[in-house]
Amino acid sequence: MKILVINSGSSSLKYQLIDIASRTVLAKGVCDRIGLEHSFIKHTKAGSDPVVIDRNLCDHRVALKEVINALTDKNIGVISDVSEIDAVGHRIVHGGEKFREAVLIDDNVIQAIKDCVDLAPLHNPPNITGIEACMHIMPDTPMVAVFDTAFHQTMPKHAYIYALPYNLYEKYGLRKYGFHGTSHKYVSERAAAMLNRPLSELKLITCHLGNGSSICAVDRGKSVDTSMGFTPLDGLPMGTRSGSIDPAVITFLMEKENMSEKDINDLLNKKSGVLGLSEVSSDFRDLEQAIEEGNEKASLAVDVFCYCVKKYIGAYAAVLGGVDAVVFTAGIGENNDFVRSKAVSGLEFMGIRIDEAKNKTRGVEIDISAPDAKVRTLVIPTNEELAIAREVKEILEKRK
Ligand code: AMP
Repeated sequence: MKILVINSGSSSLKYQLIDIASRTVLAKGVCDRIGLEHSFIKHTKAGSDPVVIDRNLCDHRVALKEVINALTDKNIGVISDVSEIDAVGHRIVHGGEKFREAVLIDDNVIQAIKDCVDLAPLHNPPNITGIEACMHIMPDTPMVAVFDTAFHQTMPKHAYIYALPYNLYEKYGLRKYGFHGTSHKYVSERAAAMLNRPLSELKLITCHLGNGSSICAVDRGKSVDTSMGFTPLDGLPMGTRSGSIDPAVITFLMEKENMSEKDINDLLNKKSGVLGLSEVSSDFRDLEQAIEEGNEKASLAVDVFCYCVKKYIGAYAAVLGGVDAVVFTAGIGENNDFVRSKAVSGLEFMGIRIDEAKNKTRGVEIDISAPDAKVRTLVIPTNEELAIAREVKEILEKRK
C-alpha cells in the first residue's frame, strides 16, 4: 500500500510517498514559496540526490500537480501513474474537541476542520487548502485527516480546563488542547516495543524537543497531560517561543512599551525562547557553538530550557504516580546529549540515571539508562510521516 502524506502550510507543501508494508519512504520533498516569486520544488527520490525544480507554483493545486508530475516522472519518479497512490494522509494541526482520532475525510469533516479555524488561524486554513487541492487532483483517492491534537483528547477535564470563568470555555472552547500528538503517540508505541512490554502497562513521559517542544504524560497509552495548551505557545521555552510566562507580563508590556496585540504575538512567538534569551540563535547547534566560545547568554538559554524540561519530568511523574521510562525525541531530543544529560541530572532520587557513554549516541533508537536505573531513559527518533501513514492504513482497513 502506497500512502502520500501531505503537510500543507501557508506557502509550503511537504510530501512523502510511503510504502507502508516495508515502512520505506519512496520519495519526499517540499514545494516552497507557493504563491510567491521564485517558487520551487525540492524533490528527493530514495537513494538519489535531491533535485530542485524551479516552477511557478501560483497556488497549492498547481503545486500538488507538480508533485504528482515529479512522482510519476521517468527519471526522478517512483510510480508510473497517480492511481498507484492508495490513499492520502493529511496532517491537520487542530481538530478541537471534535476529533479524538484520525478520520476519513468527507464534506462533514472538512466543515468540522473549518469550524476549528478560530483555534488555529495560521494552520488550519492551509491544511484545508491542501485537502481541497488533493480532492481536485485525485477525486477518487481516499483521504484521511490526522490531527496533532487528537492524541490529547483523553486528558481528564481537571488537566485541560483553565481557571478562567467557565463560560469562556463554553463560548470559545478556551482550554488546553496540546499538540505534537502524532509524535507523542508514535514514540510511546516504540517505547513499549523497545521495553518489550505492553503499552497498556506503562507510565511514560515523552519529551518532544525540537524547534517547537512539548512534553506529555502518557498513562497506559493515553495522554493525561501535556505542556502545550490552547496554542503551541505554552509550556517549555522553545526556539523562538516564550513558553509559559506570567500572563500579567502581557498587559505590563502593552502599557510600558506601547505594544499592540500583534507586537505581543510577534514577541512571544518569534522573538522569545532561546533566541530571545541568548540573542544568538533559535538553533541549538548555534547555541552549542556559542557556549564553546564562552557566550554566557547562550549558556543561560540552554540552562533555562533544560531546567524546564526537568520540572515537567518531575511534575508528570507526580501526575502519573510513577514512571517507567522517559523518552527523548525530535531534533534536540534525538541529537543533543548535553540537553538530555542536564535535563535528567538530579533526578537520580526518582530512579532516573543515564549512562553518559551511551548518551553520546545520536539519532538512533537506544536505551541510554545506566544499568542500575529503575526508570529507563530512551532516545527514539520520531517519524510523524510514518505515524500518519500507519493511521491512514488503519482507517482504510476498518472501512473494509
Ligand atoms: P526539529 O524542530 O525537530 O527539526 O528540531 C530542531 C532543533 O533540533 C534545532 O534546535 C537543532 O539545533 C536541533 N538539531 C537538529 N538536528 C541536530 C543535530 N544533528 N545535532 C544537534 N542538534 C540538532
